[in-house]
Amino acid sequence: MSDEQMSSKEKILFGKATNPSNILPQKLTLDSKIKFRCHPGVKCFTACCGGIKIILTPYDILQLKKRLNIPAHEFLHQYATPVYLEKTDMPGVAIKLREDDHKCPFVTPEGCTVYSDRPTACRYYPVGMADFHEGGDEKSKDGDQNEEEKFFFIVKEDHCKGFEEDKEWTVREWRADQGVDVRDEMNKEWLRLVMRRKSFGLQATLSEQAKRMFFMASTDIDHFRDFVFESSFLDTFLIDDETIAKIKEDDVELMLFSFKYLAATLFGAQTMKIREDKIQAKVEEIKQRQDESVIESVQEYEKIKQQREMDKKV
Ligand code: SF4
Ligand code: SF4
Repeated sequence: MSDEQMSSKEKILFGKATNPSNILPQKLTLDSKIKFRCHPGVKCFTACCGGIKIILTPYDILQLKKRLNIPAHEFLHQYATPVYLEKTDMPGVAIKLREDDHKCPFVTPEGCTVYSDRPTACRYYPVGMADFHEGGDEKSKDGDQNEEEKFFFIVKEDHCKGFEEDKEWTVREWRADQGVDVRDEMNKEWLRLVMRRKSFGLQATLSEQAKRMFFMASTDIDHFRDFVFESSFLDTFLIDDETIAKIKEDDVELMLFSFKYLAATLFGAQTMKIREDKIQAKVEEIKQRQDESVIESVQEYEKIKQQREMDKKV
C-alpha cells in the first residue's frame, strides 16, 4: 500500500508518513493550541468511518471484545481482517469493513456504537504524534523517555469540517479528552516491537513460528492465556508468583506480559529469564548432539581410512 492509499488514521497511529499533503508542516507541543471539534452536528459526521484501514492494537481488541462480550476468536472472525503491519512481515489485523458500503461495522447514522471503546486509530485524528523512540532504545539515561523527542502535528482531511468549529484546545487537553494517553501507554511496547522489526529490515530473518506467535499473542489473548497456563511455559520461564497471580486475573496485565515475552523471543530482549535447570538440560542436549556428531565424524573418518588401506593393498 502506498502512502497515498494509507488512511490518515493509520498514518497517525504509526506516525510514519513522510510529509503527505494532508499533514500540516508545523511542529506542535502539548501546549500548542488547536481549533477543532467533531460532533453529530457537523455536515461530514461519520464520513471518516468508511473506506479506511483501521489497524487494531492488542489493547483495542481487548477493549472491543469486552465491550461486545465475546471471546477474542469470535471478535476476530466477525470484525477483523488480516493485514501486515507498517510495511513489515509482522501479521496483525484491521477492522473488517462492511461489504455493502465499505464502512466500519460499528458506525450508524447516529455515530459510533462503540464510541467509549473505539480503537486507538479513531482517537488520534486530527492530532498525530511523532516519537523517535519507537524503534530504538527505550529509555534515556535517567530511565525516562525523553518527552522532547516527541512532537505533534495536525492532519487535515479535505472533507473534514471539524476545523470550521470554534472550539479551541491545547494538544494536551485534546489528547486527554480522546483518551489517547492511556492508549499510548498500553500500545507502547507493542508498537516498539513492530518498529523494531521495521528498522531491522526484512533481511533479518524471523521464523514463521515466531510470526505466528506474534499474531496469536497480539490478537487472541484467550489463546495466549491457554498457552501460558496450559503448556510447559511456566516450567520453562522463571516467573515470580506475584506476576503469575496478576496475569491470571487481569487481561491487561497478561497483554503487557505478552509484549515482554515477544520482545524476548523475537528480539532477544532481556525481559524474561529461563529456569536454570532448563538451560542446563538444553546445554546437555546440545552437548549430547555435538558428542554424537563428533562420534559420527570419527566413525566416518575411520571408514575412509580403512577404505584407503584396502585400496593400497589392491
Ligand atoms: S470504531 Fe467508531 S469511530 Fe472508529 S471507524 Fe468505526 S464507527 Fe468510526
Ligand atoms: S470528518 Fe472530521 S468532523 Fe467529520 S466526522 Fe470525521 S473527524 Fe468528525
